[in-house]
Amino acid sequence: MVLCSVCGVREAVYFRPYSGERLCGECFCESIVERVRRTISRYEMFEYDSRIAVGVSGGKDSLSLLQILAEIEEDFPKAELIAVTVDEGIRGYRDEAVRLAEEACRELGVEHRLLSFKELFGYTLDEIAERTKGGPLTPCSFCGVLRRRALNQAAREVGADRLATAHNLDDMAQTVLLNILRGDHRRLALLDPAGMSISERFVRRVKPYCEVPERESTLYAYLKDIRFQSRPCPYAETAMRNDIRNFLNRIEVKRPGTKFTILRSIQRILPLLKRETGLLGLCPLCGEPTTGEICRTCQMLQELERMR
Ligand SMILES: [Zn+2]
Ligand SMILES: [Zn+2]
Repeated sequence: MVLCSVCGVREAVYFRPYSGERLCGECFCESIVERVRRTISRYEMFEYDSRIAVGVSGGKDSLSLLQILAEIEEDFPKAELIAVTVDEGIRGYRDEAVRLAEEACRELGVEHRLLSFKELFGYTLDEIAERTKGGPLTPCSFCGVLRRRALNQAAREVGADRLATAHNLDDMAQTVLLNILRGDHRRLALLDPAGMSISERFVRRVKPYCEVPERESTLYAYLKDIRFQSRPCPYAETAMRNDIRNFLNRIEVKRPGTKFTILRSIQRILPLLKRETGLLGLCPLCGEPTTGEICRTCQMLQELERMR
């Protein structure tokens, strides 16, 4: 029996390649909560009295993060958590995730706000997919942009001063490479885990889960008995992100810690990136920050309107 390198008492169930530690279930879970705590303070993500909206999709990352934040928040009696869930309107898929999110919030005693694409934009994602079939944009690209808008709106409506999303280390590293490969370097600045205060209409976005690797997030959810939706979205786009995921996972096996290195590199050049994004304008239609004239969301909504 191999003993845990932290407590030295219980049997190790997990080997952490990038640190060389062998951890028992208990010490592993504690290390994840500790890491989130450190990430929050390293990036100064919250104030002691922040009202924090947490984007909860019903997947393993967001449900784990919600539980961890609820635990950390116990030490900050003036801070508040509100879970926000966006129902994109995907028949037979989203309903299950929404139910899981509702259950988790009830158990944790966290206020929950549900917002749907239909009530916000007039269409469900299923309707958007139907309408834009054969067009240049996939349902995924609509969903990504509209969900960001929806989350921001939900956060604003509940009076939050922060919006926490559950992007994990793998999501971050993949998105960095994805944006570089697509030549979309201006978007890199938006990846700042600490978020930016761009305008009053834009709730500052933070990513407290950004230093937790995907497989550790899965193990955490499993050890904590968190019920989450594991089925992938029927519209999930595969191509490029999947290639990058496989590539990163292969490198990570050969050189443990590579995903962390990518995150650290981006952090180092963030001040430069931000200087460039400082030139962001505000969309004349909705007043939200944009890299172009009219923002992506408004462009998409106009596009959909034309197809009516
Ligand atoms: Zn232990
Ligand atoms: Zn706009």
